[in-house]
Amino acid sequence: MIAAQVPVLHHWVGGAAHEGSSSRFSEVTDPATGEVTARLALASPADVDAAVAAARAAFPAWRDTSLARRTQVLFRFRELLNARADELAALITAEHGKVLDDARGEVARGQEVVEFACGIPHLLKGDFTENASTRVDVSSIRQPLGPVAIIGPFNFPAMVPMWFFPIAVAAGNTVVLKPSEKVPSAALWLARLWVEAGLPEGVFNVVNGDAAAVDRLLTHPHVKAVSFVGSTPIARHVYETGTAHGKRVQALGGAKNHMVVLPDADLDLAADQAVNAGFGSAGERCMAISAVVAVGDVADDLVDRIATRARALRTGDGRRGCDMGPLVTAAARDRVAGYVDAGEAAGATLVVDGRGVSPDADGTGFFVGPTLFDHVTTDMSIYTDEIFGPVLSVVRVATYDEAIDLINANPYGNGTAIFTNDGGAARRFQNEVEVGMVGINVPVPVPMAYFSFGGWKNSLFGDTHAHGTEGVHFFTRAKVVTSRWLDPSLRGIDLGFPRNV
Ligand code: NAD
Repeated sequence: MIAAQVPVLHHWVGGAAHEGSSSRFSEVTDPATGEVTARLALASPADVDAAVAAARAAFPAWRDTSLARRTQVLFRFRELLNARADELAALITAEHGKVLDDARGEVARGQEVVEFACGIPHLLKGDFTENASTRVDVSSIRQPLGPVAIIGPFNFPAMVPMWFFPIAVAAGNTVVLKPSEKVPSAALWLARLWVEAGLPEGVFNVVNGDAAAVDRLLTHPHVKAVSFVGSTPIARHVYETGTAHGKRVQALGGAKNHMVVLPDADLDLAADQAVNAGFGSAGERCMAISAVVAVGDVADDLVDRIATRARALRTGDGRRGCDMGPLVTAAARDRVAGYVDAGEAAGATLVVDGRGVSPDADGTGFFVGPTLFDHVTTDMSIYTDEIFGPVLSVVRVATYDEAIDLINANPYGNGTAIFTNDGGAARRFQNEVEVGMVGINVPVPVPMAYFSFGGWKNSLFGDTHAHGTEGVHFFTRAKVVTSRWLDPSLRGIDLGFPRNV
């Protein structure tokens, strides 16, 4: 369904909306109603070039802007975002479909990175060694890279770009953000917020588009680094192409996250958390739990408790106080329903079937309700593939050792969790598991902004995780200065109290 007159969304270049030259457009939909809400201009290579040129032109002055002034802009950005977080959350719900409360949570987690980046003067403090040799001093400093590209997935239109751009901007870089074409409005909203916060024009730019825009960014000679988040095949392509073109690249990919439940665990707590982590955001989270690994004899009891909770969830329009919203597109809904068909055909026990859900929504939204499979085996596509929908699989194993072998054999390594009251078992798990982010009785262990976010194996290509000090390192490069001053002197008279400018 296409609303009578929908707006056309373009790009944001040099501090203003930019129409660009592309003749290609895609449609943005409200997944809860199925309604087309906007047409989106898909950038041509020339549009990407214009954004990179703006970022390049803005770089010298922004690089030389003092940390005192840069942080003032960041603090203003933080204040504006706090005051208007609900506006951004509503935009996310309207294009992604996640329920409003979840969208508010996404904004809050992004805001944590803005707050971390407000501390950039401390984070950029270098090292200094006096008299390394006689009257020779050595110091190390970190400097910005230049224009950097950030390429986002559909499932976190605000938080994922905010994992990167507050730190990139704070460190003195300029940015070209390419959001997912399914959820473009959050990026454009954030670009306007930067203007209100006083960021100089050209420091933060947005190009909307698809693979053509990404490929131009990856090969553009003036893009110095690329932060990418998306599915594993595209992450691998981004890493290989970007690095082949001399860029620093961090490319975060897909996931298949396991939650181990040991026999001593509190089963009500485990069932609550399996439901929260499996069905929150309709399973469209890279940290969603998709496989519950039931150890020993807990499975029957655990499956019953999860099923009772899953059946009680209300699926519908995220603006109506429902528990779970729609999938992002009709294609995503059909893909997820196809996996449910495949799981049934492969012989898994379908305990809760979300295919026929009656959502609390108007129109023809893209809904699949919470779905639970039991007796899933590792050869089934519902286990091997990232479904990215509200489908939870229970895999039964006899021992802890079988559970850890299962997880370590999986090609993904983004997040995982263990539920137990046995400290020794939990410690063994954190030591042995080959996964980047581990939760102990915490089902979605997304690290705080001052730690780093990133997976292992096929969940991340590159060495550097997002945000935290790893993020600061990614967006800066080191320089070491060795100096000798035989006759140092200070000139000029100023009796005023020294001020930072
Ligand atoms: P996607 O890979 O389809 O798209 C991600 C970005 O790549 C988008 O901006 C898209 O326009 C672009 N793109 C798509 N096809 C391309 C191509 N052929 N060449 C170049 N660029 C291309 O991912 P998605 O569906 O938007 O997001 C969901 C995926 O992201 C899931 O796999 C999820 O696990 C993953 N994800 C991972 C993390 C993490 O931290 N590891 C976080 C969020 C999402």
